[in-house]
Amino acid sequence: MVTPNTTLCPSARAEEGALLLGVVGPDQSVSLLKEPELLTTELTEAVTSIDAPERHFRFANRCVKSGCNQWREGRCGVIDLVMSFNKHLSEPTALPFCAIRSQCRWHQQVGPTACSICPFIITDSTQTNEERLNYIESNALAVE
Ligand code: SF4
Repeated sequence: MVTPNTTLCPSARAEEGALLLGVVGPDQSVSLLKEPELLTTELTEAVTSIDAPERHFRFANRCVKSGCNQWREGRCGVIDLVMSFNKHLSEPTALPFCAIRSQCRWHQQVGPTACSICPFIITDSTQTNEERLNYIESNALAVE
């Protein structure tokens, strides 16, 4: 169960109890919702009825740490991998609104720079890490 003190993974699976965090637009960047929506039974059924919901939406849910296969040496391996390929990014001077920032694993781990790259991260697990990084690299110039 997600509480105000729960550390959240901002790239979670579409499942009941998660939060609908953002929507992937036609340009393949993610727009974060002002008010993330709890995935009730009905909303879960709606979003999981479409093909590959994690390709169209971003969801947040409790960070399960070592219970996730992306967890590496006490850290989230997803954001560390992405940041390792984007070392040229400097800390942004202003951050867009994000309703979960105070609870976000990526922000806790990497700081505000995570928020620069966050809109370009699409959860869909059918993408290989290489495909994901190629996409992020090709878009990262836009957020320097
Ligand atoms: S990385 Fe930043 S913008 Fe993305 S979900 Fe976390 S706090 Fe929000």
